Amino acid sequence: MTIEDFRPEKQITTFYPPQRVLMGPGPSDTHPRVLNAMARPTLGHLDPVFADMMEELKSLIRYAFQTRNRMTFSVSGPGSVGMEMCFVNMIVPGDKVIVCRNGVFGGRMIENVERHGGVAVVVDDKWGEPVDPQKVEDALKQNPDAKILAFVHAETSTGVLSDAETLCGLAQRHNCLTIVDTVTSLGGSPLKVDEWGIDAIYSGSQKCLSCPPGLSPVSFSERVTELVKNRKEKVHSWFMDLNLLLNYWGSANRTYHHTAPTNSLYALHESLVMLSEEGLEHSWVRHQRNHKAFKAGLEIFGINYVVDERYRLPQLNSVYVPEGVDEKEVRRRLLDNYSLEIGAGLGDFSGKVWRFGLMGYASRIENVIFCLNALETVFSDMGMKLEHGAAEAAAHQFYAANPMPVSFSG
Ligand SMILES: *Cc1c(COP(=O)(O)O)cnc(C)c1O
Repeated sequence: MTIEDFRPEKQITTFYPPQRVLMGPGPSDTHPRVLNAMARPTLGHLDPVFADMMEELKSLIRYAFQTRNRMTFSVSGPGSVGMEMCFVNMIVPGDKVIVCRNGVFGGRMIENVERHGGVAVVVDDKWGEPVDPQKVEDALKQNPDAKILAFVHAETSTGVLSDAETLCGLAQRHNCLTIVDTVTSLGGSPLKVDEWGIDAIYSGSQKCLSCPPGLSPVSFSERVTELVKNRKEKVHSWFMDLNLLLNYWGSANRTYHHTAPTNSLYALHESLVMLSEEGLEHSWVRHQRNHKAFKAGLEIFGINYVVDERYRLPQLNSVYVPEGVDEKEVRRRLLDNYSLEIGAGLGDFSGKVWRFGLMGYASRIENVIFCLNALETVFSDMGMKLEHGAAEAAAHQFYAANPMPVSFSG
């Protein structure tokens, strides 16, 4: 058989993706410095030069998470693998896990608990609302045998930030371990693993870290390390078994576990070097400032946010589609005419909500202004009556009135 037998209608040649602006729920734009790092020569995963880079990478991840946890590294897989890794290592069949669900990803945590033989005690909150600490406290009191509390810090399906510090404090008082999803919060919202006492945490490379998808930074407290070391039953996954993985990531004498995605790890290293150069606090403030400027512009179009201001994520703006607007057509025109990707609503929000990501490298003034202008033109083309230039002006006014407290040239 020749290649024509498989794809006769079109000649297959080198793939050149178009240059998009990624302002959806992830992946977000990759920084050019990170793309460049990824294009460097491939090394073997046991090469001593690569091993030195891995040690630096662990320190950089510790900085990003604000933790001194020894067991901190990057899982070779997307955020979902980081999620599964926490559950599969920490649960033995029969374990009770309190899981908070206020969007899609909390629902996936329940799936994980049940598939690994745990018993999920579900604490539900409405989509668009944060996890309610009172409900969690009640669940902890009613289930003194619960071993783990699991929740999502930044719910990307709705744009809500939950109070991780308070929730972890409750778990500690009830002698529960915590698993926290920070795929969308890492780099974009304040996050302090040691100070808040988080036991198991996972994130993703493609949201606020300006890096391509495919890697999941994780970190585990000594309590988790001990728990996993002392399991009587083997971890129900060979690939994700922490005890085995540590022979690769943890020791001076690295031995083969799996072939680490070396070039992808250069990319994560570079993106975290950039985050350390910028400074975490600066990155948090930058995300907040661009979000508020964007919001000032959206308000000119009469667009309203789904989430109350107190719990709103700066990196994920979920907003109601204005009455009478064909939401799919707007997204199609943004992609076709402006190469600009935004996100649709998921689940209950499907057809009613847009999700605008301002994550990592995508969280910058050029994108805020570009997106507001593209929206204005699309709305105007579709027959909406608007005051031209007003959205961009509102964003500029916000920037002018709220200068960045510290400068950064990155
Ligand atoms: C994106 C996301 C995930 C899943 O990450 P993948 O890299 O797509 O596997 C998990 N949790 C949250 C909160 C996310 O936003």
